[in-house]
Amino acid sequence: MTPNQRGIGMTSQRTRDRLIMRLKEQGIKSADVLSVMKDLPRHLFVDEALASRAYEDTALPIGHGQTISQPFIVAKMTEILLQGLPKKKVLEVGTGSGYQTAVLSQLVERVYSVERISPLQNQARERFYQLKLNNIKLKHSDGSWGWEDNAPYDGIIVTCAPEEVPHELLRQLSPGGRLVIPVGGSVGQSLRVIDRNGSTFEETELDAVSFVPLLSGQI
Ligand code: SAH
Repeated sequence: MTPNQRGIGMTSQRTRDRLIMRLKEQGIKSADVLSVMKDLPRHLFVDEALASRAYEDTALPIGHGQTISQPFIVAKMTEILLQGLPKKKVLEVGTGSGYQTAVLSQLVERVYSVERISPLQNQARERFYQLKLNNIKLKHSDGSWGWEDNAPYDGIIVTCAPEEVPHELLRQLSPGGRLVIPVGGSVGQSLRVIDRNGSTFEETELDAVSFVPLLSGQI
């Protein structure tokens, strides 16, 4: 690790350890998720001006009107996605800063991630290169359509909120696979977990959440 990756001051290991303690207090149980987040330098995923706030448990702006998700939500969604059988192939919709992608890349064999805003995707790609995360494939596209070429996926995680679950994502889920997705509009969103059992889908509604909207098209 370079000194930049090791971090100094507010980005030090001790600051990171405090975040992990808070995540545990809030109910995150997966030792694997906690261990990956303890070692992953979140400050490299935000603008340098915000680096000192990278280990607060809060969402932060990443430009283009988008945000890096709150660490608790990243931990929670990852934990839920990976519960049960280990997931070999995971699709993420909404790469953004790449932080959630990087967490997943250390817990599954291969991560496919789709982002509609090209400059965000390029920055994320640069970060994966710096951190030597080699099992991530990126696509510049509208993720409502999933990523057909590599389907089906053992797990799909969506980090922006559509008004309704996109049909294509259900179709690209393996039998036994799981989709974790925030759903809802301006009146309120909730986190949904959808399990595919053969050709049937079982949906569970979890807590209220607040994500940026899933938008169509690409820029
Ligand atoms: N996991 C990211 C979250 C970023 S915010 C992180 O922690 O940094 C959500 C992201 O979803 C934004 O980058 C936004 O551009 C992207 N997004 C919104 N609609 C999309 C769509 N239809 N397809 C792909 N990405 C989309």
